Amino acid sequence: MSKGVNWTAQRRAVFDIVQASPDHPTANEIMERLKASGHRYAYATVYNALRYLTEKGLLREVKIGESASRYDANTHEHVHVVCDRCGAIAEFERDLPGDWMSELSRQTGYRVVGSDLVFHGICPACQARDAGAELG
Ligand SMILES: [Zn+2]
Ligand SMILES: [Zn+2]
Repeated sequence: MSKGVNWTAQRRAVFDIVQASPDHPTANEIMERLKASGHRYAYATVYNALRYLTEKGLLREVKIGESASRYDANTHEHVHVVCDRCGAIAEFERDLPGDWMSELSRQTGYRVVGSDLVFHGICPACQARDAGAELG
């Protein structure tokens, strides 16, 4: 999958940061982390590197509602569940049922090539906070 990738120093640094960040960071967060590790790149440089790596299939762009795109080094088929309180994102690695996909194709006539499913909920930390608030 990484065939034909032109690894510039910037692209490598951006990729390494995303790979070390399981929390699906935004471009701005990636920039902050690059800065913290001593890389001072312009926003456009970081953004272009992210776009390039996404096009090459090394990163996955995750869009949740209207908020800024997030980036994911986990390119295996998986779905996300996002906390509506704090924005935390968890991953659920399970293929969609095959009959579900073929039924989707059959009913719509589309050739389905991928999915970008996001579930919404309240994360365990926020649930614990709710429980604590009720006790207090
Ligand atoms: Zn993910
Ligand atoms: Zn939460």
